[in-house]
This record gives sequence, C-alpha cells and structure tokens, in this order.
Amino acid sequence: MLIIVGAGAAGLAAAITAARRGIEVLVLEQNDRPGKKILVSGNGRCNIANRYPDPLRFHSTHPELVKKALQGYDAQRVLAFLGSLGIETEEEEEGKLFPMGRQAASVVKLLTRECQRLGVKLVTGCQVTEIRQEEREFALESSRGTYRCRQLLLTTGSPAAPQLGGSNAGMLFAQSLGHRLIPPRPALVALESDARWTQRVAGVKLPSRISLLVSGALVTEREGDLLFTDYGVSGLAVLDLSREASLRLADWEPCELSIDLMPHWSKERLDKRLSDRIDTERNLPLDLWLEGVFHRKLVPIILEISRIRIQGEKDLTRKTIRQLVYTIKHLKLPIEKTRDFRYAEVATGGIDLAEINPERMESRKIPGLYFAGEILDVDGDRGGFNFHWAWSSGIRVGNAVRK
Ligand SMILES: Cc1cc2nc3c(=O)[nH]c(=O)nc-3n(C[C@H](O)[C@H](O)[C@H](O)COP(=O)(O)OP(=O)(O)OC[C@H]3O[C@@H](n4cnc5c(N)ncnc54)[C@H](O)[C@@H]3O)c2cc1C
Repeated sequence: MLIIVGAGAAGLAAAITAARRGIEVLVLEQNDRPGKKILVSGNGRCNIANRYPDPLRFHSTHPELVKKALQGYDAQRVLAFLGSLGIETEEEEEGKLFPMGRQAASVVKLLTRECQRLGVKLVTGCQVTEIRQEEREFALESSRGTYRCRQLLLTTGSPAAPQLGGSNAGMLFAQSLGHRLIPPRPALVALESDARWTQRVAGVKLPSRISLLVSGALVTEREGDLLFTDYGVSGLAVLDLSREASLRLADWEPCELSIDLMPHWSKERLDKRLSDRIDTERNLPLDLWLEGVFHRKLVPIILEISRIRIQGEKDLTRKTIRQLVYTIKHLKLPIEKTRDFRYAEVATGGIDLAEINPERMESRKIPGLYFAGEILDVDGDRGGFNFHWAWSSGIRVGNAVRK
C-alpha cells in the first residue's frame, strides 16, 4: 500500500497514476476537502500548466536535478494526463494553459471523481502530526489515529497560503527523518516598503519596468503591471521579481526598486518632449501636462521626489527637466520585506533535491520514501509552471512506486 500525505495537485496526480497501476492508495488530507489551492488558482480560472516548461522557468539550488526530473515530462505528457481525466485545455498568452471552461472547481471535481473510480481512499480532516521509521515501515500519527505503510509519499506542499492548508509540516517530518531542508521563503508575493508615499497612491496601477537593486547593484528587472498599495507594491512585475528580492532580504541585503514609470518612452524622447515645451507650450503648466500622462494622484509625488515646485508658466528649466526625467525613469522605492506567507503563491526552498533520485522522486537515504510537488526545493515562474511541476513530479512517483 502507498500512503500519500496531502491531497493537492501532486498528491492527487500520484494517487491516480499509482492506482491505475493497481496499487492500493490511501490519501490523508488535513483540510475538509482536497485541492484547496487548485480551487483558488489563477483567480478561480486555474492556470493549470504551461505549453513551454523550459527548465529555466523552474528555480532550485540544484537546477541540473530539476532538469533531470522534468526530462520526458513535457506539456504533452501533462496534457495527456489531464485529458485522461476529461480536462480539456486552451492556451492563452505566453503558453499559459487553462481548463476550457476556466473553472478551477471542475478540475478538482474531475480529479476526485477519478480517485473514487479507482478506489483511492481519501481521508479528509486528517492532520498528520508525526512520522517515524519503524524497521521497514513508516508509522504516521494523525488526528485520526495511527497509520502504517511501507511506501510513503509526502506531498504536503509549502508554507505559502496557510489559510488554504499551506504548511511546512511535511518539510519538518522529512527533516526529522534525516533529509536536508533549504529554508522556505515567500515567493510570487508583494513587497513592503517603509516609504509612506505609496499610501497616497494606493490603488494606482500602471505599466512599468522595475529593476531590483541589491546593495545598489542591478540584479534583475521585469516589465509589466505595477500596483501601488498601502504597504508598498504589488502587480505582476513585482510578483515576478519577488523571488530574488525574498532571498536577498532573507540575507539582510539592502534592496531597492528602481521604477521606470514610462517604459515605452526612452529617456531621450522624454527629455526632448519636455524641452520642446519650454519653447512651444509654456501656457500649459507642468502639473497639468503630467496629469495627461500619469494618474492624478501620482503627479504630486513625482514633483516632490524631483524637488520641483510649481510656480507658474515658467516651471520648466533645463535643470527641472533633468530632475523630472530622472524621477520618471528611476523612481526609487526601498524594500524592507516581502509580505508574509499568507500572501505568497509559492515558497522557494524545500527538501534538497541532492538527496532524491530525480527519476523516481524517491529518497536516496530512505527507500520507500517519496516526494513530489512544492515540498521539494523547486519553485516555478508565474504562468502555470508550479502546477506543471506538481503534476509531473506526482505522475513520476505514481509510476515509480512498487507494486
Ligand atoms: C492563491 C494561489 C494561486 C495560485 N495560482 C496558480 C496558478 O494559477 N498556476 C500555477 O501553476 N500555480 C498556482 N499556484 C501555486 C500552486 O497552487 C502550487 O504550487 C501547487 O498547488 C502545489 O501543489 P502541491 O500538491 O505540491 O501542494 P498543495 O497544493 O499545497 O497541497 C498540499 C496539501 O497537503 C496538505 N497538508 C499539509 N500538511 C499536512 C499534514 N500535516 N497532514 C495532512 N495534510 C497536510 C494541505 O492541506 C494541502 O492540501 C497558486 C498558489 C496560490 C496560493
């Protein structure tokens, strides 16, 4: 028999794959229902996979092992698995795949229906509290009593989104059994700043290019939506660089964002446009021109940070133009921390892949102990990569467990 702890994407994919091979499967889940993270994913639309699961879209301390684990598990293989459940998909921009009906709830329904059809036993409301190795068996203590098995799969995910069952419990069980844990950190998460001015523009969203500066040096940059909030910044571009910021902040490195508020205009074009106004459009006050370009709430902030006082028609001088262009192209925002796990979609870190056979997802230290999904030290980019990892590593285990 195979016991699986955690009925998320990875656990359910493994349960179905193993049960289809005739293996008896018992799944223990602490929530009152399986697949809670699937249910909320992609705002309820479920970005279920990605057409192009290039290993570069996955992050780990051991990228070469992620590459091995993904070998042979391309989008086609994942889609064949989903298709076998009755989940048809459709592609959106950047290879993002969604169930055709755009309903995460139906994905969970089809997964659980297949589990039932195959006779997989699913015990919900069952929190595993301790795992011991006793001779050739694993003994699991839970809120519903003791369970024993010879093959155990941990798919308890990461501490991201604890309100949906996110927890580091499985990581700690694995650690107590002798596995190395790379500390999990929030990723795909908004960033907090002490700069008070973001509160004055909370709710304002705009396209931007954001550079992450660590100790003053450029580390990475992303283009996309930026959303100012009471606590700092969010939006897709911020989520995309949050992983890097999270790791740097955990190391106490000073982090700062440099925001280009007009990513589609070069510095030269902006400079020229403003310079032309000195000669031709003196009657239009600078703040009014800015209101034509930016949200009205952002204008006083741009002027304050540029240290420009509006005095009348002769606002613009060569000096003020230089200051203004610099602020618009390099608006600085110090970052103190990421938001906590409650607001994170995933976590970096997890069980070290170096101690896992990437073909079987089985422990190299403890035969019969398997891992899949986010509990492992793998996290993907936004765009369906995290589910791709959960499905494919889960299917791998389902194919690897012994009859
Ligand atoms: C809001 C949000 C939106 C997301 N949207 C997307 C998206 O659109 N596309 C995408 O690719 N990824 C998305 N993700 C990430 C994706 O949901 C996860 O990477 C994926 O669900 C991980 O699957 P998993 O099976 O490894 O873990 P999980 O889905 O987290 O499953 C782990 C399960 O284990 C259970 N568990 C934990 N500890 C115990 C215990 N001690 N005893 C018993 N049960 C336990 C938990 O309750 C949980 O049900 C999103 C995440 C969030 C939070």
